[in-house]
Parts: sequence; structure tokens; C-alpha cells
Amino acid sequence: MKPNNPAFPNADHDHKSCVSNALKNAEAYCQQQGLRLTKLRHQVLELIWANHQPVGAYELLEQLTHEGRKAAPPTVYRALDFLMENGLVHRISSRNAYVGCSHTGQDHTAQFLICETCGQVAELDDKRIGSVISKDTDQLGFSVAQWTLEITGTCEQCRRVTEDE
Ligand SMILES: [Zn+2]
Ligand SMILES: [Zn+2]
Ligand SMILES: [Zn+2]
Repeated sequence: MKPNNPAFPNADHDHKSCVSNALKNAEAYCQQQGLRLTKLRHQVLELIWANHQPVGAYELLEQLTHEGRKAAPPTVYRALDFLMENGLVHRISSRNAYVGCSHTGQDHTAQFLICETCGQVAELDDKRIGSVISKDTDQLGFSVAQWTLEITGTCEQCRRVTEDE
């Protein structure tokens, strides 16, 4: 386990602890906020955390069916809405897919780095970007409903692999 780049963990990192930490945080957060983390919501969250790549709604449906749970698409979409609204997952618009949030319960502006080679997504929380954008939009009298910043490229590990070739 090399913790040198926690944003893009390598394949042999202790992912089990990523998942259990994420689920524990979500459980604690929901309890504290009086939110109902139902079995399905929990299951969907766990599936999203299965790896550090964004997961699409269709894929989630398929996996739930595999696990013997016949979930109707609307219920899965509702579970996703719940998870998004409460900041447990983020939607990656360019991939039309979801990733788990590692800053749940913290006021943050997320920026995403998306590796086009391995598909991993890292979440950044750079407050400076948020303040620049709100300054600019304020000046234009524009009221922001939602903004996401998605930056595509190649992560450190994938870069190393291509450079070694
Ligand atoms: Zn992990
Ligand atoms: Zn987040
Ligand atoms: Zn990569």
C-alpha cells in the first residue's frame, strides 16, 4: 500500500477500508441528520463505492438484479436522488454516472479529476475556485443553481505506465 497519491489510490490499496469508512460515515451522518438510510439506499451507496470509478444508473440496476434484488428503475433513481441531495454521492455529468463523496457533511465545492485511462475519479475541494466563480457570477448578476467542474486527463499511475512502454 503506497499512500503517496490518496486521490488516485493504486490497485492494491486497502479498498475494503475505503468502503467501510464511507458506509460508516454515511450511517453516522444520516443518523445525526435524522435521514432514513433504507436498505436499498445503503445497498446503492455500497455499489457506488465498489470502486473509485463512477457507476451509471443502468449498471447499478443490473448489479442489484444480480444480487437477487428486483429493484424497479424508479426506486433506484429515487435512492440516487436521496444520496445526491444529502451529499453522499456526486453525479459526474460527463459520464452520466455517480461517485461516492468523501466529504459528506462538510460544506465543500467539489471539482473532479477524471482519468481517461483507468476511469478513476478524484474529488478535489479547492475553496479558491468556488470563491473565484462566485465573485464572477455575482458581478454578472447571475444566480448559480449548481456547478460542477470536471477535469479530464491522465492520473499519475496511468502516466507512469505509458511512460514505461
Ligand atoms: Zn479505495
Ligand atoms: Zn463531495
Ligand atoms: Zn488513471
